[in-house]
Amino acid sequence: MATRLEAKFRRQAWTVEHARQAVLDRLRPAPTELVGLGDAIGRRLAEDVRTEEPIPRFRRSGMDGFAVRSEDIAQASPLAPVELKVVERIPCGEVPRQTIARGQAARIMTGGMVPDGADTVVMLEMTEEVTRGSGASVIIRRAVSEGANLSPIGEEAASGAVLLRRGERIGAGQAAVLAALGYSRVSVFRRPKVAILSTGTELLQVEEPLAAGKIRNSNAYMLAAQIMSAGGEPLFAGQVPDDAARAERMIYGLLSSDADLVIATGGVSVGDYDIMADFFLRWKGTTLFNKVAMRPGSPTSAGVWRDKFLLGLSGNPSACFVGFELFVRPVLLGMQGAAEPLPRPFAAYLDEDYRKVNAYPRYIRGSWHIRDGQCYVRPVGLDQSSAMLSIKEAACLIVIPPTKTGIGRGELVQAIPLEGAMFL
Ligand code: AMP
Ligand code: MG
Repeated sequence: MATRLEAKFRRQAWTVEHARQAVLDRLRPAPTELVGLGDAIGRRLAEDVRTEEPIPRFRRSGMDGFAVRSEDIAQASPLAPVELKVVERIPCGEVPRQTIARGQAARIMTGGMVPDGADTVVMLEMTEEVTRGSGASVIIRRAVSEGANLSPIGEEAASGAVLLRRGERIGAGQAAVLAALGYSRVSVFRRPKVAILSTGTELLQVEEPLAAGKIRNSNAYMLAAQIMSAGGEPLFAGQVPDDAARAERMIYGLLSSDADLVIATGGVSVGDYDIMADFFLRWKGTTLFNKVAMRPGSPTSAGVWRDKFLLGLSGNPSACFVGFELFVRPVLLGMQGAAEPLPRPFAAYLDEDYRKVNAYPRYIRGSWHIRDGQCYVRPVGLDQSSAMLSIKEAACLIVIPPTKTGIGRGELVQAIPLEGAMFL
């Protein structure tokens, strides 16, 4: 026991970058599945998507107006208007029947197929249509340069071009491309299933009335939201008291289930009842790290057993939240093929003094705003790992490097955006 206690205290702290890389190095992509296009929105593509046809596929009018030969109207002016014979009317979706010859034009609608012979579309507002006997003519009083208001074949993409990449998230633009290319079903990465196990004798279920010394389990639902926003599927595995044997049985059960990843919260610190810390010292899997040089959440732990990750996050709500963002979100994104699973920090000026001294970098919940064209960040709410209410106010994690004096207002810091965590 003494040696285990020692081991618990003598943990070696890994840098966030090193610890994260250790996890990413062992990452395995999730299996793929075919889903309907509507259900694919928000998912990640399992393969590159290329177009067989050029886009657009036919010469398309960008305006309501008249399709003409530009050379016919090259000399047109208010004093010398040009009159062309209207030989056809081309609604959207119809194929023109005639080739435009010299002195001719065709009435055309936006999105209509420009007839052969024509090389330009003159917008309706610049024309005047007149009746001439049984037919119609159009009067044009201005020259329009060749190719105006007309999208040539392949203007957006040549045939064979790769339009979407494996791992790309299907948002509005990607959904439009897939629909345009005829993908009624799309191959996407399966949503990683993430089991959430909460440990702590103090925990009550959400529906239970409060009792002395107890709190409701808020982490499980916070994590569920984070998992969903990262494309994963949360599995509520319930909660166990600080009973090592029960927790151990639960964890092996979850690691053997169809969950792709298991998160356990609580009990990773050095207290008497910190059962997860002991578990990581003696389990059958490989412990990757059990201490990270960061605040909050330094006892964050990670291991693998039979190719499945077990993440041990601190029970303190803010530490749990940060641990997920730094370690679990990149894993879930990586499993779904994301080319850049790591959050991309941005630089900003600290908008108030931060005087806490710290040996480890801090990831504090913050907000950002733009003032005079510069980006500023400032901490929000209570800056403690046990804080819960500040999480909902946070738009970024401000990275405070280790310092003996704190950081002054106006100094440049890095911040990690949290849009992904806040919105589904
Ligand atoms: P632990 O990581 O077990 O040392 O817990 C640290 C703090 O987080 C304690 O105050 C716990 O009561 C609290 N805590 C642990 N698990 C949860 C949870 N699931 N929801 C909310 N708070 C929790
Ligand atoms: Mg605990």
